[in-house]
Amino acid sequence: MRITIVGSGYVGLVSGACFADFGHSVVCVDKDADKIAALKAGRMPIYEPGLDALVAENVRQERLIFTTDLAAAASDADAVFIAVGTPSRRGDGFADLSFVHAVAREIAPALRGYTVVCTKSTVPVGTGDEVERIIREVNPAAEVSVASNPEFLREGAAIADFKRPDRIVVGTQDARAEAVMREVYRPLYLNQAPILVTDRRTAELTKYAANAFLAAKITFINEVADLCEAVGADVQQVARGIGLDKRIGPKFLHAGPGYGGSCFPKDTLALVKTAQDAGTPLRLVETVVAVNDQRKRAMARKVIKACGGSVRGKTVALLGLTFKPDTDDMRDAPSLAIVAGLQDAGARIVAYDPEGMAHARTLMPEVTYAEDAYACAEGADALVIVTEWNAFRALDLGRLARIMNAPVMVDLRNIYRSQDVRAKGFSYRGIGTDPGL
Ligand code: NAD
Repeated sequence: MRITIVGSGYVGLVSGACFADFGHSVVCVDKDADKIAALKAGRMPIYEPGLDALVAENVRQERLIFTTDLAAAASDADAVFIAVGTPSRRGDGFADLSFVHAVAREIAPALRGYTVVCTKSTVPVGTGDEVERIIREVNPAAEVSVASNPEFLREGAAIADFKRPDRIVVGTQDARAEAVMREVYRPLYLNQAPILVTDRRTAELTKYAANAFLAAKITFINEVADLCEAVGADVQQVARGIGLDKRIGPKFLHAGPGYGGSCFPKDTLALVKTAQDAGTPLRLVETVVAVNDQRKRAMARKVIKACGGSVRGKTVALLGLTFKPDTDDMRDAPSLAIVAGLQDAGARIVAYDPEGMAHARTLMPEVTYAEDAYACAEGADALVIVTEWNAFRALDLGRLARIMNAPVMVDLRNIYRSQDVRAKGFSYRGIGTDPGL
């Protein structure tokens, strides 16, 4: 199959590299000339474990190329995947579809022969209808079928997720388009990936429903964590106790600073707007959004409390800035709100993150960035673990206690056991584990 991917970001680049690895001939397109130049030079524009080797191998095998020329790339393709961003729109929080619509307008005149145009971006119900309308308006003669194929990969584990997905959702009622999509994903059938073919609107909504459900699960355990702190219970044991129930399952039951990242915040918000517009508000999701928003800043208050009620003039060291480990993605990371809350209270912030600092510097220029975890902690009045990178899981606590000004640890990911940290002379606060905080 000849596949064109429009948008070479976290989703587009991983999808393109994996499709090429399946044996397809793939062109990855981006309008960002610097990104394409970097990719052509063998440099990855994002951090995703294993991606550089996968891209290099498939470029070497001549199955994967990069270009900014969307029209040329679209004209030869059997399938064009739209994988551009759909961020929250300023003002109303609905998904900004301008990038998706722009791609539809740009590819329409270039389409030659039968082509499936497939939206991989997360888009609200009805977007496929609009993409189809735009293409038919610009090029009424185009032999095109517009399908939906939402992507469920997770940053940090994107390649494994793409190659061994729990399911593939394809939204089309056109048998010819379905055949193309089945051929695109055929190499995965060896792994018995369940492919679910639905109508286009159902596929679009499935993605939002999945993300909203996961966001609700996280938010649920976060609120239970707060209750644990208030009543003297342990959220990790509660999570284990409920997670072993197969109807609940153990995943997404780790209490923390609130969900962030490039998907959950914007997708929950967009779903809320869609449901309101449809006259069927999703009150549960509305509450999830509100609870999670408040939680991030509440984490700053938690740190202030751990510091004795004030951080004015104090130095707070943050370990981890990205919204989760194994990514450089800073979009909507809880660290942004935590840093703002602490700075508002007069703290000086020093931070270290293994991959996120380049982007963090542009978002938080007033933060001091350290070379490693120990340099970050040196002289600090509190150490806050914000992201559970592996590199932070086995720190030399004795050394930290010696180099810090005050041995205070706030572990927003519960990666340490309080008795171990306290044994090294720290005062320790976890999430949902410390009664009476
Ligand atoms: P991203 O910002 O990393 O990448 C989008 C890319 O599209 C950018 O490189 C941008 O330059 C490019 N682009 C924008 N307009 C273009 C145009 N007209 N022509 C060519 N290129 C263009 O975004 P992402 O994280 O890859 O997300 C893409 C979509 O996938 C979003 O809808 C997102 O919700 C969804 N999604 C993301 C993830 C994730 O983990 N990041 C997972 C599942 C789904």
